[in-house]
Amino acid sequence: MFKKILIANRGEIALRVQRACREMDIRSVVVYSEADRDAKYVKLADEAVCIGPAASAQSYLNMPAIISTAEVTDAEAIHPGYGFLSENADFAERVERSGFTFIGPTPEAIRIMGDKVSAKQAMIRAGVPCVPGSEGTLPDDPKEIVRIARSIGYPVIIKAAGGGGGRGMRVVHTEAALLHAVQTTKAEAGAAFSNPEVYMEKFLQNPRHIEIQILADEHRNAVWLGERDCSMQRRHQKIIEEAPAPGIARRLIERIGDRCTAACRKIGYRGAGTFEFLFENGEFYFIEMNTRVQVEHPVTELVTGIDIVQMQIRVAAGEKLPFTQRQITLRGHAIECRVNAEDPYKFTPSPGRITMWHPPGGPGVRVDSHAYTNYFVPPHYDSMIGKIITHGDTRDQALARMRTALSETVVEGISTNIPLHRELMADAKFIEGGTSIHYLESWMKTHVR
Ligand code: ADP
Repeated sequence: MFKKILIANRGEIALRVQRACREMDIRSVVVYSEADRDAKYVKLADEAVCIGPAASAQSYLNMPAIISTAEVTDAEAIHPGYGFLSENADFAERVERSGFTFIGPTPEAIRIMGDKVSAKQAMIRAGVPCVPGSEGTLPDDPKEIVRIARSIGYPVIIKAAGGGGGRGMRVVHTEAALLHAVQTTKAEAGAAFSNPEVYMEKFLQNPRHIEIQILADEHRNAVWLGERDCSMQRRHQKIIEEAPAPGIARRLIERIGDRCTAACRKIGYRGAGTFEFLFENGEFYFIEMNTRVQVEHPVTELVTGIDIVQMQIRVAAGEKLPFTQRQITLRGHAIECRVNAEDPYKFTPSPGRITMWHPPGGPGVRVDSHAYTNYFVPPHYDSMIGKIITHGDTRDQALARMRTALSETVVEGISTNIPLHRELMADAKFIEGGTSIHYLESWMKTHVR
């Protein structure tokens, strides 16, 4: 096992990875930007190195600075967390070429799955059902684009091949709006992801977002750890996740889970990963794969009892998965609320000093957060400041625990979306379960003025 790991990330996930290291008796090196000097995990780290100014391009995305820090601190492996360089195949390659272990899949696997178009093609070959759409990226010829949209049928969604984080997507309802939408999405994608390629999919009207967590080792073993329902979204971004997905027959989940692990074996996948699907009328449609740990991984940890971050580290060190599919059992239900520093209804970011931080506790409550009283939320990064996760024997119990947890939580000095979470946990339709990805946005229209 590694003796020392460098954590190339920030915020709650840096703390999460650090906790996994500590439990495994691995020393951790944290890299941080000038804006994160006072972060909790920086203080808790065995070693911490400032690698640049606040701007991510010069710190958390600065590959030479991160790799040279690994060199001077004698770290053996690099954990990329999520976001930043976690799905950058060039980074994974440079890490390995410099003699370190990248805690994640091979650069080739990241490359195939990181491009949504090549990922879909690989999944079709592996027998995983996909959303109907263009074969590959859209051509330049306007007539061809119109023909493709007609054959798919409106509404369609134009998506950036290199997109992520809910950005680089545009829904088109009529032919009149099509070509303009393609051009705008291309321009945005070029600027945001340095890849102007876009593709087209049927826009599903009422799907749920269901995803399968997988773990694979380099000895061709792969397992799936149940599913998560991440349908509560705003602007294509998740804010509430739960496991398992309410009301979906186990045999449907088992069938798709087995397809995912078969695909992992076929592409030689190693590490943790998530297959994301839209689920409508009893059918799953693959949309993309995330080749890293996800924000919502704790709900799966709570229902399976498996530490996903520790497993990532173990398989990166060459170990075999310590369990088979049959040994994985799900217990109870877990729900996660993402706590964002933002206006709860307008979603405008609300960085600044937290003057009072009182996280909840009690049975079945887990809080993953790097925040504390007097912590300054820097304006330079994602607005998520933590996650509240509850577990219960049943969904009702997990919900009741979440309501109690949210009622105990105090965050002062900045705005957070906790008031929104409190309302949603009392919403009859959400309590019933099985709402679609469009539910939250329509809820906002009727409940927020
Ligand atoms: P990202 O990588 O930016 O997260 P995804 O491809 O995972 O992008 O899509 C994010 C969300 O966008 C989905 O969870 C869903 O809400 C919506 N979405 C994506 N594709 C479609 C589609 N074909 N039909 C309807 N909604 C979609």
